[in-house]
Amino acid sequence: MTQADTETTIIRNGRVIDPATGHDAIVDIVVQGDRIVAVGAEAGAIYPQGNVHDAAGCLVTPGLIDIHTHCFVGLGDFCLPADMMGVRSGVPIIVDAGTAGATIIGLARRAVIDHPATETKVFALMDPAQIYLANKGFICHYLNIAADERNLDLDVAREALDDNREIIVGFKVRATYTDDPKRSPFLAAAMLLAPELPVMVHFGEFPHTPVIDTDTLLAALRPGDIITHAYRGGGGQLDAKGEPTATFRAAFERGVRLDVGHSGGDFHFPTARRLIERGFTPNTISTDLNVFNVEGPVYSMSTTMSKIWVLGIPLADVIRMNTVNAAAAIRKSDDYGTLAVGRSAEISILRIETGRFALTDGHNTIKTDRRLRAVGCFRGGRYFEATHDREPLAEAAE
Ligand SMILES: [Zn+2]
Repeated sequence: MTQADTETTIIRNGRVIDPATGHDAIVDIVVQGDRIVAVGAEAGAIYPQGNVHDAAGCLVTPGLIDIHTHCFVGLGDFCLPADMMGVRSGVPIIVDAGTAGATIIGLARRAVIDHPATETKVFALMDPAQIYLANKGFICHYLNIAADERNLDLDVAREALDDNREIIVGFKVRATYTDDPKRSPFLAAAMLLAPELPVMVHFGEFPHTPVIDTDTLLAALRPGDIITHAYRGGGGQLDAKGEPTATFRAAFERGVRLDVGHSGGDFHFPTARRLIERGFTPNTISTDLNVFNVEGPVYSMSTTMSKIWVLGIPLADVIRMNTVNAAAAIRKSDDYGTLAVGRSAEISILRIETGRFALTDGHNTIKTDRRLRAVGCFRGGRYFEATHDREPLAEAAE
């Protein structure tokens, strides 16, 4: 064993919030090597040799999970570095949501996910098409291959999936159609390939390639499938009177998951407020961070969580969305989402800042006197300071 294998750290004095267990108290968490070995009021006392990590004044939560990012830097021009969105923003676990199709996922894995310089735990939702690449110019849509059935080959997709089961947690599907506007062959292929894995789809359009309409899409989704950009304006969730549509309601009631997927223009405070009022709370909060939105309005996970908090969701529920719920959404509940003895030490440390802040969805602004900010995180037992969670503080004007 190396020293790192046995090194002991006691996270002390923090307010530990673990929504999976309902825990909310100031307790110690003891990390040894890459594992949590004790959680409790005096748990640190039996490890007198341990290093103390003082979390006084902070919130200590299970490792946050962002299920919608774009992190395959070097593949096109759309992505951000994994660690910038991940460990350096207090988020030990991120998911790349469909930057890569089946023929390039293996390269993305080697270049980013498995790369020794990548400190963040990264999973992927794979686009089932042979060639899909998310780039600034939407090239696969512009050339129409995102809506060309010849771009689908179930054998190619299955082989990519089988070769990369450790990192693929589902599919990201662009629900385009070819002849029949009521059927997306890409969505059907993903569901056929691996019925046990979730499919993430989004509300909204793509340039050049038409998608099946929202009602048709909603009717096709299974329990556990994920709608990202679920709170975008004009997404088809609300009818002309501003009430949730029958198909949206039915999808939610049978267990389709609503994910924030903020992005540049895909989160809308008035739509979110209305849906939350009607009981359609987010299941998960994700950012959709990419080159277009990191300088605003998304900035970071902590800012995105603050926007859900300001809409009246209790803090423990906000944290629930990014921990236990997000782990369940990617079917990793056995490994992540709670602070339990024996688990890998994925732990986020946040603080509540008070002041005068303005949170924007890109169009609308809400003023608030409190917000969340990441301090750092433990990823596999190693501590990383949140050096990238530093957007300029938006002080609300008088
Ligand atoms: Zn995205």
